[in-house]
Amino acid sequence: MPLIDQLKDSAAKWKAEFQQLDKEGKLVKQLATMKKPIVVLCCMDHRVIPEKILGLGVGEAEVIRNGGGRVNKSLLPSFVITQDLCQCKLAVVIHHNDCGSCHLGQRKNEILQEYKAKGIDLSDAFADWEPITDVKGSVVEDVKKLRDLPMVRDDVAIYGFAYDVNTGELEEVTHDPAKTGNQP
Ligand SMILES: [Zn+2]
Repeated sequence: MPLIDQLKDSAAKWKAEFQQLDKEGKLVKQLATMKKPIVVLCCMDHRVIPEKILGLGVGEAEVIRNGGGRVNKSLLPSFVITQDLCQCKLAVVIHHNDCGSCHLGQRKNEILQEYKAKGIDLSDAFADWEPITDVKGSVVEDVKKLRDLPMVRDDVAIYGFAYDVNTGELEEVTHDPAKTGNQP
């Protein structure tokens, strides 16, 4: 069976399971309300599974992913929505070892050149995409970058972690507490 058909089959099964779970409307209600005010910013890498790593259950966090989990233009609109619409008060930044951003970083200029040769200019899209050369260093850099952004509210606490995809260890690298309000 083609992969896309397997996915469609799973979606049909999920719909039945969802309706079973939501017989009394509790699941929809649960999903509509954030139980924990958490936003996780992490890499799109499939080995980083924030729900498992942080023990998050249904409806307990917003997760924003991009290549590397870097704080850049691609991530900011989603972040603003989580703090303003979803009232997230705790931001957790996770970068990881063996990241594509560690390896692809060296090839960034070559990739841009290869696309340019086909008439596609990606320089704007990659303008603030920073490769990772040192995982803990990039976590420190991004927590600071997030805190220094004027749109990031003072009542949001920001924590930065490095995740080891070979051992499953999550190591705290840095944190910047909320400047106002209660710590979440
Ligand atoms: Zn990655």
